[in-house]
Amino acid sequence: MIPVAKPFLGKEEWQAVQRPLSSGWVTQGPEVAAFEKEFAAFVGASHACAVSSCTTALHLALKAAGVEGGEVVTVSHSFIATANAVRYCDATPVFVDIKPGTFNIDPRLVEKAFSPRTRALLVVHQMGMPCDMRAILPAARRRKIPVVEDAACAVGSEILWRGRWEKIGKPHSDAACFSFHPRKLLTTGDGGMITTRHRKWDAQFRLWRQHGMSVPDVKRHLSKKVIFEEYTELGFNYRLTDIQAAIGREQLRGLPAVLQRRRHQVERYRKRLSTVSGLDLPQEPPWARSNWQSFCVRLPADRNQRRVMQRLMDQGISTRRGVMNAHRERAYRKEPWTCGPRALPGCRHAQGMCERLRESEKAQERSILLPLFHGMTQAQQDYVVESLRKACL
Ligand SMILES: *Cc1c(COP(=O)(O)O)cnc(C)c1O
Repeated sequence: MIPVAKPFLGKEEWQAVQRPLSSGWVTQGPEVAAFEKEFAAFVGASHACAVSSCTTALHLALKAAGVEGGEVVTVSHSFIATANAVRYCDATPVFVDIKPGTFNIDPRLVEKAFSPRTRALLVVHQMGMPCDMRAILPAARRRKIPVVEDAACAVGSEILWRGRWEKIGKPHSDAACFSFHPRKLLTTGDGGMITTRHRKWDAQFRLWRQHGMSVPDVKRHLSKKVIFEEYTELGFNYRLTDIQAAIGREQLRGLPAVLQRRRHQVERYRKRLSTVSGLDLPQEPPWARSNWQSFCVRLPADRNQRRVMQRLMDQGISTRRGVMNAHRERAYRKEPWTCGPRALPGCRHAQGMCERLRESEKAQERSILLPLFHGMTQAQQDYVVESLRKACL
């Protein structure tokens, strides 16, 4: 079976975990601190704070933005954690549609979705493809609405910013949240990182991730004087461990080579799939460089998604359906959300159907993710291409 994704872990990672295992410092400690520093340098951020996942990163970033009780403008067309993080803050997601032909938020719809209750804008760089930050940010800035990037998939992705290529996570907004889940390009098993331009936000994240404790435990451990810590506000246990960070540091070191290979693999896919009629391939706008975490194709309009996926599976090829939509999940029949101040006449939100989210729904129904991973061979790729060609006939 050719898997849809597979983490790339080598002997470097294997050796790196020996450090925390032999020192005995296995939870958040010096490896986490070093990983944060190296990650910040890689994306060009002034602050990076490691946490237990991107979901917890999003929770803290939205909390820092002060969204409680208000509305957060975001997409439904994303992994469910995007919307869930809004709900953890007791805020209501306002879902806007994606731009046709892409899997990212439609910048033209963002400003219309703002209301006096809007507390933040949460954009997603879906599957590693940067969204159009230049088109999105000015409207939020004019209204002083904080912006958070769900960059779960976007480690190593870049955008052209004032004539220069910059990494996603610098961040171009107020904060960006990354995931180190095994489906992403850089993995620590589970894990996450928040980068921010605000020193104050970074200090808050550090406090919140460790129970609201006034003295980080490394500091207490190293102190020659007795220290009594305080708990200054309600915090969480959202720490990354030193075992994970040791792996993350090696993954980060290997990332440039992974990115290079990934771009090469995508070029190959692109060339060979261009002759499959009716198939839409993902496009990279001139101002963006995707890390190509996933390669998501739209099937010819008259092809049945499930049947194509089954045919591929019968050929030993694992695929996944396109990105989900939170508003179509049972959880969001119970959780509050809106598509604007007033639903359209055709909207049946209680059944998970929304007239304003038609592009999101279509993208989910028509697209599939093809296998793509570092260890994938050219022969495997060619086999996927030919099997897809036949499955689409
Ligand atoms: C994977 C993913 C997340 C969740 O990341 P975790 O680290 O698993 O919490 C959030 N948003 C998007 C867009 C993702 O792809």
